[in-house]
Amino acid sequence: MRSLGSWEDLPVPELPDVENYKRYLDATALHERVADVVVGNAKVLRGLSASEISKRLTGRSLESSCRHGKHLLVTLDDGACLTIHFGMTGRLAYFKAMDEDPKYDRLRLDFDNGYHLAFDCRRMIGRVGLAESDTAFVAAEELGPDALDVDLTAFRKLLADRRGGIKAALMDQSLLAGIGNVYSDEILFHAGIDPRAAVEALDDDTVAALHHSLRTVLKTAIDRGAGSEELIHRLPDTYLLPHREQGAGCPRCDGKVHRAKIAGRTSYFCPACQTKGR
Ligand SMILES: [Zn+2]
Repeated sequence: MRSLGSWEDLPVPELPDVENYKRYLDATALHERVADVVVGNAKVLRGLSASEISKRLTGRSLESSCRHGKHLLVTLDDGACLTIHFGMTGRLAYFKAMDEDPKYDRLRLDFDNGYHLAFDCRRMIGRVGLAESDTAFVAAEELGPDALDVDLTAFRKLLADRRGGIKAALMDQSLLAGIGNVYSDEILFHAGIDPRAAVEALDDDTVAALHHSLRTVLKTAIDRGAGSEELIHRLPDTYLLPHREQGAGCPRCDGKVHRAKIAGRTSYFCPACQTKGR
């Protein structure tokens, strides 16, 4: 039986989770006219008051969406962009009956068709804002390219001038957008790289292996249901994520998973499997 404290301790939304929130939004709330906006707590609004966001969204519809790193960017029918960052506990919920309204509904759009889209955010670290356009938002936030848009050549270039720890580099949103604490651990585990390694200690083959792991891990997590509690039961047996516990058995060898503070974050790795870059 896989154990894992509780889902509450688990992944803060990163690229795979947000990609699945995007797909959820695309499959539910697009093209419906917003009849009303209900702000449950204005703290989740980014640089806007409750009345401002209400005024800007009422009468509009959500026409298309894209994801850049951990941000979900939704283009409205007037060309403006609704920006959603999920913080630590953010989720989306689309429902009809109000008894399905999630407990931590902080912002809700009520559509003409009788359905509602809620931004559910228990810890209120997530933020919803408005930008001129998706590209303007990415530029203003100084985000690096989306982690899944970077080919091996571009990835080598990004790392070429980088010094310091590889884990910090993977999590640096201005270098590469989308990867956080959990998925950087997973990616480094699959590439066999010590998370304490310096970028400059990685040879060409190791960087290629890292790039391959990055793509494989992110895509697998998306396909297996990142963003839902199901993920943990659906990941392949060789994944570290269900074993993020000090002393847990490594899914690849007879060794034990170690916990350490790396790049300021509680990180998990297998010292026996992850030897590259030492
Ligand atoms: Zn191992």
